[in-house]
Amino acid sequence: MSLVIVGSMAFDTIETPWERKEKIIGGSCTYCSLAASYFTRPGIVAVVGEDFPPDVIAFLKKRRVDLKGLQIVPGGKTFHWQGRYGTDPNQRETIRTDLNVFESFRPEIPASYRKADILFLANIDPDLQDSVLRQVKKPRLTAMDTIGLWIQSKPEALMRILRRVDIYFGNDEEIRMLTDERNLIKAGKMIQAMGPRLVIIKKGEHGALVLGPDFLFGLPALPTEKVTDPTGAGDSFAGGFLGYLDKTGGFSKRDIRRAAVYGSVMASFTIEGFGIDRYRTLKPAEVAARFQEFKTLVSF
Ligand code: AMP
Repeated sequence: MSLVIVGSMAFDTIETPWERKEKIIGGSCTYCSLAASYFTRPGIVAVVGEDFPPDVIAFLKKRRVDLKGLQIVPGGKTFHWQGRYGTDPNQRETIRTDLNVFESFRPEIPASYRKADILFLANIDPDLQDSVLRQVKKPRLTAMDTIGLWIQSKPEALMRILRRVDIYFGNDEEIRMLTDERNLIKAGKMIQAMGPRLVIIKKGEHGALVLGPDFLFGLPALPTEKVTDPTGAGDSFAGGFLGYLDKTGGFSKRDIRRAAVYGSVMASFTIEGFGIDRYRTLKPAEVAARFQEFKTLVSF
């Protein structure tokens, strides 16, 4: 076991200006593990209720996601999140969050996960992220993501984790909120001073910036006419990025740049369908082809 992901598995209700989908499958851990599964065999730490569809669990197994760390609470209800997008897909509003089984979730790391090479603390309550971080032996890399909700409601818990991770993933809005700084490069450097060596700034349809200790790498998002549902783009970016790093075992500048491209590749597939739909048919050859498309896009 080398990449372990802790995060949410969810029912999402999604409203876009054109369509509304009730209780489709989502969650930071779901998206991230599916994206990572194209590069490695990720293990997950998550919780769902008895209402979570068995066919989705079977699908994750088919994608060779290790489910030893998944708790299914008898009689419990799965976490539910409702979000609304404006005509600008970068603008998202949370309408409702029902914690349900998360309220009493105590993550337990299976013995086989404790020596993980890479640990990803995907978006989830920072106290839960902390509890997982304490249970693993020293991973080669530790990464985290979070959202505005936790930056505002649990800043101390968040800072405790931030000090102990190597990689921080955040979108432009979260990074500005965390640092009170509008300039993203200055804000990224402020986050590096808090702990992480690598800060990844996701800018939705405007791509991503990777801020290293002594380098900056930027890449666009794949220009596309088809954005069906932006949900999960950030988690899939992290899944592609960390899955690729796990596969290569390296952490050179070249590895990091290529990992960022694979992150963008996976995000570009996620937004083509609602929820995890696109993963139902996505073939490894399509991932490889899109990597080449990115290469052509940015070569000059
Ligand atoms: P992303 O679009 O990559 O930022 O992630 C979207 C996913 O985050 C959705 O599928 C939600 O289920 C999940 N999510 C939203 N709010 C929370 C929360 N408070 N805790 C855990 N997961 C959440």
